[in-house]
Amino acid sequence: MTTLLDDFLSHDRSRVMHAVWETIHSRDPETLDPLVAALPQLTREATRLDLGGVVYSNNANLEHALVKLAQYRDGKCWCAVYPGLLTHDPRKEETHGRIRILSTSEPGWSMTYVGECTVCGQVFDIEQGDHHFTWWNWVPRGLKRRRGEG
Ligand SMILES: [Zn+2]
Repeated sequence: MTTLLDDFLSHDRSRVMHAVWETIHSRDPETLDPLVAALPQLTREATRLDLGGVVYSNNANLEHALVKLAQYRDGKCWCAVYPGLLTHDPRKEETHGRIRILSTSEPGWSMTYVGECTVCGQVFDIEQGDHHFTWWNWVPRGLKRRRGEG
């Protein structure tokens, strides 16, 4: 039986991307724990691969999967995965019971949602836009933007 860890380390682009998306969407400790244990190895090995990508870089998605694993390891809520990735459809997340949509703007291509994490209650402002495909930008409320740092 092959595991997601095998996929991550396979150096095969389609298998790595399969593992990336499974990791990003999974909330199953049995799936995630072995990956967290191998996180240092994953970071070393998996990031050597050029994964291509037409509109957005697949390597950025891989990086997001590794960040998600670190967040899981550190005990952050599942909803920490939403910001920084444009592929989380709030309606799908609501169907899965992961968020509650509190309100929306007038429906359209360009619209906004207010969603609340059903686990920790974190509220997000979600902007929907369309550029090659529909995307969603999740911004957690109460997070202060740091300007002029660095
Ligand atoms: Zn949460």
